[in-house]
Amino acid sequence: MTDISALAARVRFVLVRTSQPGNIGAAARAIRTMGFARLVLVAPARFPDPEATAFAAGADGVLADALVVPDLRSAIADCEVVFGATARQRNVALREYTPREVAAPVQAAVQAGGEVAIVFGNERTGLENDELALCHGAVHIPTASDYSSLNLAQAVQVLAYELRVGFLGNPTAPPPHRTDPPASAGQMEGFFEHLYTTLDDIDFHKGRSPETIMLRLRKLFLRAQPDERELRVLRGILSDAQRMARIARGIDK
Ligand code: SAH
Repeated sequence: MTDISALAARVRFVLVRTSQPGNIGAAARAIRTMGFARLVLVAPARFPDPEATAFAAGADGVLADALVVPDLRSAIADCEVVFGATARQRNVALREYTPREVAAPVQAAVQAGGEVAIVFGNERTGLENDELALCHGAVHIPTASDYSSLNLAQAVQVLAYELRVGFLGNPTAPPPHRTDPPASAGQMEGFFEHLYTTLDDIDFHKGRSPETIMLRLRKLFLRAQPDERELRVLRGILSDAQRMARIARGIDK
């Protein structure tokens, strides 16, 4: 029998640029009731704060253990699966899931020993597009179409609940069939930076927008979930392309 607390221990809830400390406390309570414990705070406006402690209502252990980091990249660098919670559909390049649909991929990743992050945006502005671009999928709680924005801590509650129900309902789901775990978010970002500069070096863009093609390529490679070894092969190809481009430039001169 799979130990659900061991699964939950590999999931972190990341709150980005939260303005209201009360929401941080209420989010701590929300995840604690569902058996989760890990909160990561990206540049919170105020933390620690008495209001956060008051709203945590006894889940202050979660607050005491919360990690505060300066940016989203550092919050998710070691994660294999990252979902960004959005009140609105903004980023066409990301596949969109319901909270119920994310439970299975989250469970598969944690059962294979991976780390997972669920990311939530600022109360007023949500997640910025560049923050969403770091996520592997978007998760949207299906709401009334003319009023789609839940309170931050309530959105955290819905996600934590669905993950818990998923874990409880399917405690013995087999790990996915692969020998090596997928590369981490940090390794994928390193690859995307390398890909970006290589496309520039080989003059691929020719005046077209590099951002559009990068969004397409991100979607492709994130869907493929390459492992570390596969990423090394891809980066080897990029390095050789860069070397050939340097030689070609030398010949051109
Ligand atoms: N006005 C903001 C809403 C921010 S609500 C906007 O339009 O983006 C704060 C955060 O709660 C959001 O960034 C998101 O992470 C989460 N959230 C709120 N409503 C949600 C919904 N319907 N589905 C998924 N996440 C939601």
